[in-house]
Amino acid sequence: MRAKAAVMYGVNQPLVIEEIELDSPRAGEVLVKTGASGVCHSDLHFMEGSYPTATPIVLGHESAGTVVEVGEGVTNVKPGDRVVVAFVASCGHCANCVTGKPYLCENTQALGRADRVRLKGQPIPQFANMSAFAEYQLVSANACVKVPDGVPLEAAALVGCSVMTGVGAVANTAKVPVGATVAVVGCGGVGLNIIQGARLAGASRIIAIDIVESKLAAAKEFGATDVIDASSKDPVAEVIQMTGGGVDFAFEAIGLAKTAEQCFAMIKRGGRAVVVGMIPVMQQVSLPGFGFLQEKGIIGSFYGSTRQTYDMPWLMELYRQKRLKIDELISRRWKLEEINEAYAALKRGEVNRSVIVFD
Ligand SMILES: [Zn+2]
Ligand SMILES: [Zn+2]
Repeated sequence: MRAKAAVMYGVNQPLVIEEIELDSPRAGEVLVKTGASGVCHSDLHFMEGSYPTATPIVLGHESAGTVVEVGEGVTNVKPGDRVVVAFVASCGHCANCVTGKPYLCENTQALGRADRVRLKGQPIPQFANMSAFAEYQLVSANACVKVPDGVPLEAAALVGCSVMTGVGAVANTAKVPVGATVAVVGCGGVGLNIIQGARLAGASRIIAIDIVESKLAAAKEFGATDVIDASSKDPVAEVIQMTGGGVDFAFEAIGLAKTAEQCFAMIKRGGRAVVVGMIPVMQQVSLPGFGFLQEKGIIGSFYGSTRQTYDMPWLMELYRQKRLKIDELISRRWKLEEINEAYAALKRGEVNRSVIVFD
């Protein structure tokens, strides 16, 4: 199968539209025709080199599409099904998979299809189990989750990363109980989903923190009860003052050591800081040791601790019932050829989330 794709050749270089070639699916694999791919900040970390990757490579990890062909033994999806593709392939039988943590699958590397996708005749690695900035993707069958009627592919695509990551951080990783107080640092695509996850969980206070006014306005629409403009105020002092001592949970959704440290500082005794953002490789987080005597804790959250075959269907059901906002996250649509422009707009902070739509 030949497909148009946006190829990254090196750090800080514009992506180039090229033709790639994909093999037919083997046992346990599925060929998906891409319907929509989200323009997620995480890809930018690789484009800008704060996370390493081999090149050339096709990025993109937030997508949904239509099954074209399935390999031997695939029973969970069939040609014609619309699917979300999870960006972590899981084997289903390692210790992490069988204890409910498929997002930490120990065999995810081995499940890759390094030799199955080619550019100009040369094999290229796949990104995040899919390489979604392409018209077609060769993916693991167990990463595919059927999309129900009434859910458009562009909304389903966002379930594949930002919605799962944000709502999952609240529901799965932190298990925020009804009535808890929550702060969210960073109100981009993931931050807004943490906010609406906290609303779904029944948090009593949801304090949104950002330095961009339009993002704070969006935060209110997604369920924030209070906002703090950190460009003019110290968010730690404000949160402690507003809550009389700190929040139960503070979520970091930017990906900076400094904001992770602020999250630890704004939780109360016994509270939890939850780091969701991608802190650049090699950056260290520094914490005051006495905080541990107060039973304060800090944990990481990856992919909303997703069990995709369980979690993604309920997220899509809540969307269908209009209890979860996804359409409101999408502020712009692009064609694949406009991908460099799409990332420039993201860098300028002009969009919550934009989506590349395919014909
Ligand atoms: Zn993402
Ligand atoms: Zn596994």
